[in-house]
Amino acid sequence: MNDDSFRVVVVGAGMSGILAGIKLRQAGYSNITIYEKAERVGGTWRENTYPGLTCDVPSHHYTYSFERNPDWTRHLPPGGEIQAYFENVTGKYDLAELIRFNTEVVDASFHQGSWRLKLSDGSDDRANVVIAATGVLHHPSVPAIKGMESFQGALFHSARWDHSIALEGKRVGVIGMGSTGVQIISALSERGIEVSHFVRNPQWIMPVENGYFSAEERAAFRADPQVLDDAMDFEGYAQAVEAYTEALTNPDSELAQSMSQACRDNLEGNVIDPALREQLRPDHQPFCKRLIFSPDYYTAIQRPNAKLVREDIEQIEPAGIRTCDGELHALDVIVLATGFRADRFMRPMTIRGRNGLDLETLWARRPVAYLAVTMPDFPNFFMLNGPNGPVGNFSLIEIAEHQWHYIAQLMERLRSGEVEAISPTGAALEEFDAARIEAAKRTIWYTGGCQSWYLDAEGIPASWPWTFSRFVEAMREPRWEYFETTGGDARC
Ligand code: NAP
Repeated sequence: MNDDSFRVVVVGAGMSGILAGIKLRQAGYSNITIYEKAERVGGTWRENTYPGLTCDVPSHHYTYSFERNPDWTRHLPPGGEIQAYFENVTGKYDLAELIRFNTEVVDASFHQGSWRLKLSDGSDDRANVVIAATGVLHHPSVPAIKGMESFQGALFHSARWDHSIALEGKRVGVIGMGSTGVQIISALSERGIEVSHFVRNPQWIMPVENGYFSAEERAAFRADPQVLDDAMDFEGYAQAVEAYTEALTNPDSELAQSMSQACRDNLEGNVIDPALREQLRPDHQPFCKRLIFSPDYYTAIQRPNAKLVREDIEQIEPAGIRTCDGELHALDVIVLATGFRADRFMRPMTIRGRNGLDLETLWARRPVAYLAVTMPDFPNFFMLNGPNGPVGNFSLIEIAEHQWHYIAQLMERLRSGEVEAISPTGAALEEFDAARIEAAKRTIWYTGGCQSWYLDAEGIPASWPWTFSRFVEAMREPRWEYFETTGGDARC
């Protein structure tokens, strides 16, 4: 099969879809379409525009390895700059010509060696390979709070921020204390807006500095990439990520202990009122949930215009939120910083693999994938940042790049015509998943005894439960004995 007739479809033009587009082109694939349901690239960074939006991974480590960005202004990148970065990269690599915007893939099914796709505009497509780059934190989790529809002010999820509402002079309630709620409270409190933070379970806050890169520093990075490389110590950062992932499986490790202590010291040293301090004290160990990195939350919540509400929410009423102690908190705006349905992945897309096997059947218990990338009976279907991949306080861009390296090798066998279809064996997935679950039960996400979006419906941590280096090693080269293939013109 020549390159022109070998068709690759990528679903999603967020961070991983852009990566796939660039890498496919560089590898010489020429028949590529990226379907994007929205009108712009950017994925989660397009959807999230809330005040204070910041990535807690240092800016220069939250970039493609092959496309450094000397222009980051802050040590932690603001959401708007990240979105601009992805738009710039898309422009630089001429990806727009590959992308069909405002087009959702609604159905994919595998027939006789290729994928048939149905699109939201009613048209069809066909592809030899489908790459799902549909993101993880993508489907807002909207809690079922009684009376929500009766609220007379504005109410929206943090990932659907309504910028038509001017917040100055308004009373704003924010529900949820994940990274999102913390960032929103910090930003609004600083602006002097009256904020109430409704917190069911407080979380630990890791203190972090978020300085600026001076114009001189940025000019130096621009002039000489080596200056940037030296300043950012990529090697040192990689070691820190490795130690971080070791700490997840070994709460007694030095790093786990020192980070836990830093969180505890942050609370003790920076919340003055002892009663407020107790209200902000989590009932679980640091690390059990994804750590929140914040330079200013404790300052923000202690301002006179900010209030912490620890009483449970009874219901939402036309005038505000009533808590279980009977108090009505009068509000003009309610923000649901209540997180995402991290188990959805490509859904609501319907996907049927070999012999009509439905993805919902394979995922009836929980989303699974061999090494987080491929699934048995779904040949030539690959995922970037799919289920069970590494997730933590580090860059998902780097994860996607390693996964790409692995997927590219599987695709090479398809493009060369050596095989027509490739997928992991059922035994490969079973073996991987059993080991993953066993290891997951040793992580602090499980042993720490707290609820978080890291856990699946059965309470098992869904993320990669081993070290980062083990993931990198797994992505180096496919173990071909774990795959089955059909078709192609291989003779031996
Ligand atoms: P999240 O971590 O899942 O937090 C959701 C919050 O909403 C929790 O505090 C939860 O309380 C609360 N909540 C949910 N339903 C509720 C209800 N019915 N009543 C009261 N409270 C309720 O969500 P997130 O803050 O959006 O963050 C999700 C992930 O996005 C992060 O972990 C991170 O991976 C990513 N993120 C990253 C950054 C960054 O800086 N890189 C920034 C934002 C988001 P309970 O704990 O009691 O369940």
